[in-house]
Amino acid sequence: MTLINIPWPPISMNLDDTIVAIATPPGRGGIGVVRLAGPEARAIAKPMLRLSRELEPNRAIHCDLIDPCGADTPVRETADPASTHVGTDAFVRPAEPSSADLKGRGFSRNNSAFGEGALAPEGATRIDEVVVTYFAKPHSYTTDDIIEISAHGSPVVLRRIVELALAQGARLAEPGEFTMRAFLNGRLDLTQAEAVRDLIDSQTLFQAKVAAQQLEGALSNRLKPIKKNLVDLIALLEAGIDFAEDDVSIAQDATILDRIAKIKAPLEQLAATITYGKLVHQGLTMAIVGRPNVGKSSLFNRLVERERAIVTAQPGTTRDLVSETVSIGGIPVELVDTAGIRRAPNDAEAETIGIKKSMEALADADLVLVVIDRTQPVSEEDRELLTQVEARPAIVVENKSDLPSSCGDGRLARPAERTGVPDKPGVGLTGWSSSATPMTPVIPTSALTGEGIPALRAAILHHVAGDFTTQQESGFLTSVRHQRLVNDALTALVAATSAVAARVPHEMLLLDLYAALRPLDEITGATTTDDILNLIFGTFCIGK
Ligand code: GDP
Repeated sequence: MTLINIPWPPISMNLDDTIVAIATPPGRGGIGVVRLAGPEARAIAKPMLRLSRELEPNRAIHCDLIDPCGADTPVRETADPASTHVGTDAFVRPAEPSSADLKGRGFSRNNSAFGEGALAPEGATRIDEVVVTYFAKPHSYTTDDIIEISAHGSPVVLRRIVELALAQGARLAEPGEFTMRAFLNGRLDLTQAEAVRDLIDSQTLFQAKVAAQQLEGALSNRLKPIKKNLVDLIALLEAGIDFAEDDVSIAQDATILDRIAKIKAPLEQLAATITYGKLVHQGLTMAIVGRPNVGKSSLFNRLVERERAIVTAQPGTTRDLVSETVSIGGIPVELVDTAGIRRAPNDAEAETIGIKKSMEALADADLVLVVIDRTQPVSEEDRELLTQVEARPAIVVENKSDLPSSCGDGRLARPAERTGVPDKPGVGLTGWSSSATPMTPVIPTSALTGEGIPALRAAILHHVAGDFTTQQESGFLTSVRHQRLVNDALTALVAATSAVAARVPHEMLLLDLYAALRPLDEITGATTTDDILNLIFGTFCIGK
């Protein structure tokens, strides 16, 4: 019996149990899938199926789902082991969910039993037509025997299947337990298990593709040669110590330094991928700011491509923040339309709140879209705003390009003339750009006609994808957990480099090298602590 201790409920999870869960999301659908995994999966499923043939691995079989108790009869708990009938007094208790996923599904954690002879397929009621697929150990997701029952997607039917399985001795799966078993049974490493969650959580197809690459082992494969070089170096130094009296030559400092550098360089490159990885994983927030009536909400709607924000000709009526997530280049971009930023009149409290929120949105945004009305002379507020986004990733939009410009020709090339901000030679198009963002793009648009919107999207995409396009094919870091571990490894390698320079004994140097290896192992899960498992699998939902 294999028992592991995990600090989220239940305290101990028996990996020899047969577990059951609804694998499809709550609610009604065309089909719904119940998954059973464990040594008794087949034995537990069989009594509820009217099979015309034996279950065969990897073969889907169409059959009746039957309810031996009668479809309306609740399954009896094992209150009285001597009892052989299905009573009406001791029903499966309503839910005591240990996770959000369980809420509302109403399962008891206690296993139940029908009692001897209660399952009688011949006389049983048919409750659905189902397709049953059997995946034989070890060629399954968890490497256990797995039975998947695809029924019509009625929550009542799916719940009944789970109840029947529980009655036959299955246990309700914990969140993420199927994937956790795949990990603990060595079928997936930790980065791949995380990728399963990312794949399920993906909002865009690109995110899904990235997660699928990680599921294939892209990150692990990138780490492998780095770890191998580190382990080789450790082995070399260990050999030098262990066989000091023999003929084994002690590694020279220059060789050691060279080898550490060769481990550090690709690790630093990997560490740098977190910027892009986080972007892909979490997306970014883009605030649309500007004075009232410049066309922020109209632009928002253009970008969102449906009417969501309220558009009005009355200045200052978009008082709250409206947000919507769109996919730009496969990256989820949360657009935040802000209330008009302007000096609030004393009596306009709502406007003041709106402006405050705008400032907050601006502060929190990864990218700011500053909208200016090109038909209006550049105002004090515009200038303030442009100053605020100096040194930040920003795009300036000159909206209402369908109307004549306030300075006649609608040129963008000399905005300093219009903003009053002195033009700085060589700092880019706008003249209001700081040296930190020398190329703040200025895009003329018409939210009314759609002119310039593709160029605006392209500018946003350029900001989003930037120089990272080459990284899209290979593994990269996507989580703070990865980032912390790679940084820990790098810190240890820096310490090792200093240790060589200080000519410390190799025994001491080895401590630093082991300190570099440990976090790398933790990324893939070679050395896993309960805390890490808790963090990772606790974020899954039931049935995954
Ligand atoms: P916000 O206060 O900045 O959100 O501005 P709105 O999006 O509510 O737009 C204010 C007014 O300007 C509305 O009457 C819009 O129809 C109009 N408007 C917005 N964009 C354009 C544009 O590109 N061209 C023209 N002609 N009118 C626009």
